[in-house]
Amino acid sequence: MSGPGPVDAVNPAVTCADPQAARLVATAYDVIRQRYAEGRHQIGAAIIAADGKVYCGIHVEAMVGRYSICAEMAALAAARLYTRQPLMAVAAVRYPKPSEAGGARIVSPCGGCREVLLDHAPQIQAVVPQGEHGVFAPLHTLLPVKYVGTKWAAQLPTQTP
Ligand SMILES: [Zn+2]
Repeated sequence: MSGPGPVDAVNPAVTCADPQAARLVATAYDVIRQRYAEGRHQIGAAIIAADGKVYCGIHVEAMVGRYSICAEMAALAAARLYTRQPLMAVAAVRYPKPSEAGGARIVSPCGGCREVLLDHAPQIQAVVPQGEHGVFAPLHTLLPVKYVGTKWAAQLPTQTP
């Protein structure tokens, strides 16, 4: 892989007031800045576990689009490869195509990632864009009535007041 991507994109961590959100966004940005490949790797993600360790992933595009893998799923797999710790927060950053104006930006987890992340980390928070800022949101608030199957006992998030 070659070094930084072709666009001088501003690190969107500067939009996060929360230091942990900024750390996660900065890590996700750094990962995709290093590994960006147009049409193949567009988004980087970072997940922090309860012990403070951070696990990263990148989006993997497929020729058959529906087989593409989201960066959050790659980060989840990386986290579960190395730790059984609870997973506390996730952030994802989309790197701009060379033809696009504007810089890198924080992106919310897609609906599929919300489902799977909540399956494995019911308390997880996500850094989401809110206006010009990146802020934490409890992921279950972004998918309030998720699918609950029978493969294992459902772990519902603790309701916060
Ligand atoms: Zn996704």
